[in-house]
Amino acid sequence: MRKRVLLTALCTVLPCLAQTPDWSKVNAEAMKHFQALVRIDSTDPPGNETKVVEYVKQVLEAEGIPAVLVSQDPARANLIARLKGNGSKRPLLIMGHSDTVKVDPAKWTFPPFSATRDGGYVYGRGTLDDKPDLMAAMMTMILLKRSHVPLDRDVIFVSESGEEASTGPGIEYLVKEHWSEIDAEICLAEGGGVRRQDGKPFYATVQTTEKQPKGARLVVKGPAGHGSRPLRTNAILHLTRAIEKVAMWDPPMRFNDTTRNYFEKLANLSSPDIAARYKGLFDPQKAQSIRDYLAENEPGTYTLLHTSISPNIIRAGYQINVIPSEAEATLDIRAFPGEDITAFYEQMKKVINDPAVEIIPETANQRPGGPPSRIDNDAYHAIENTFKKVYGVPTLPTMSSGATDMAFLRAKGVQCYGIGAMSDAEDASKGFGAHSDQERILEEAVYKHVEFFWEAVIAIAGSAR
Ligand SMILES: [Zn+2]
Repeated sequence: MRKRVLLTALCTVLPCLAQTPDWSKVNAEAMKHFQALVRIDSTDPPGNETKVVEYVKQVLEAEGIPAVLVSQDPARANLIARLKGNGSKRPLLIMGHSDTVKVDPAKWTFPPFSATRDGGYVYGRGTLDDKPDLMAAMMTMILLKRSHVPLDRDVIFVSESGEEASTGPGIEYLVKEHWSEIDAEICLAEGGGVRRQDGKPFYATVQTTEKQPKGARLVVKGPAGHGSRPLRTNAILHLTRAIEKVAMWDPPMRFNDTTRNYFEKLANLSSPDIAARYKGLFDPQKAQSIRDYLAENEPGTYTLLHTSISPNIIRAGYQINVIPSEAEATLDIRAFPGEDITAFYEQMKKVINDPAVEIIPETANQRPGGPPSRIDNDAYHAIENTFKKVYGVPTLPTMSSGATDMAFLRAKGVQCYGIGAMSDAEDASKGFGAHSDQERILEEAVYKHVEFFWEAVIAIAGSAR
C-alpha cells in the first residue's frame, strides 16, 4: 500500500516510466484474449453479443474491475465499466463493438471463428472490425487498474452491440437509457487506424466526423396507356432523365477543418503529381477538372467534397404492354456535415427542372448529426503524439463517408475520435479487409494496438503529464 502511495505521488511529478507495462507479458495475455473474443461467433444478425460481453465481464471482474451488462434484448447485452479518476476533468469513454458482419464459411482458408495464427497473421471474422478495439480497450482497463495510474478523468469502457446491422439495442439504447453512465467529454472508438505500406507504418488516420445518411424518393406520376402507343409523358422517361441529372450533378464543393487538413497532409505524403492534384482542389482555377478526375477515378475521395447522391432502387411498370402511371427511384444521399438539407433538396429540384418529378425526403430512421470533433484540442494532439510515439507516423484527420456509432455521441456533444489498429494498405484489395470474404490482422498490429491504446488513454486521462 505504502509503495503504491509513493509511486502515485511520484507519478504526479514525473512521467510514469516505472509503470510502463512489461510488453512481452502483456502481448501474450492480449493475444490470448483476442483469440478468445474472435472465437465467439457474434455475427449480426442475430448478434448474440451477450456471449462476448460475458467473457469480457468475467475477465474484468477477475482483475477487480466491476462491470455491468445492460440490455434491451437479453441476447444483445452491452457492457459498461468505469475506473475512477480524481474528477478534475470530465470522463474519457473508450469503446469497441462486440458484433461482426456475417460470413460465408466456404470462402475462408481457415474457419472464420478459429482465430488461427498463420504466417504472422490472425485469421477470423472480427479480427479487424472490431475485436482489436474491444480487446485493446479491455486490456487498457486492466493495465490501468494494475498499475494504479493516477487519472484526472474517469475512464469508462463500453462494449456496444448492434453496430453492424442494428444500432437499436446498442448505442441508441445506451444513449437513451444509460446516458448518465456513459456521459463523457471525449471518446475513442473504431474508425481510424495505421496504414502500413511496403512493410512499414506510413501514416495514421483519426476519424473526426462523418457524413449523415439521408435519403429521398423521386416520384413521377403520368397517364397510363397502351404500350403500342408511346407517350412522351411516360413516367419512366421523366424519372430516368431526372435520375441521370442528379447522379451526374456535381453539388457545391465544401471543406471543413478535417477535410482541409486531410487533403493538405495527404498532399505532403504523396508523390509530386498526386500532391498537385490534392492541392489543386483549393485552387478555383483547377478544382473543377480535378473533381471530374476524382469522380471517375477516386470515388472514395470525390464523395468527401460534397453531399453525394446515389440512385440505388428503381420501381416502375408491371407488364410489357402497359405504360405505367407511376415510377419511383430511391436515392441514397450522404450529407456533408452541417449541410442545410432543405436547401439542398431545393437545389436538386432546380437541377431536375421537371415539374412532373416530385422529391419526397426520407424522414424515418434518421441518424442524428453533430458537429465535427475538434482537431485543435488537447485530446486530438494527444492522439497525434501517441501515433508518433508508438508508430513514428504523422496523423491525418478523416471524415467517413459511411456512418458509425460515434454519430450518436457527437450529437450529445462528445468529442469522438475514431482510431484503430495497423493494417497493410494492400490487404483489403487482396480480400482480407474488414467486411471482406476473409479477414485477418497482423499479429504485430494486435500487440501495437494495445500499446497505442494504453498510451493514448494515459495521455488523455492520466494525471502525470
Ligand atoms: Zn466496426
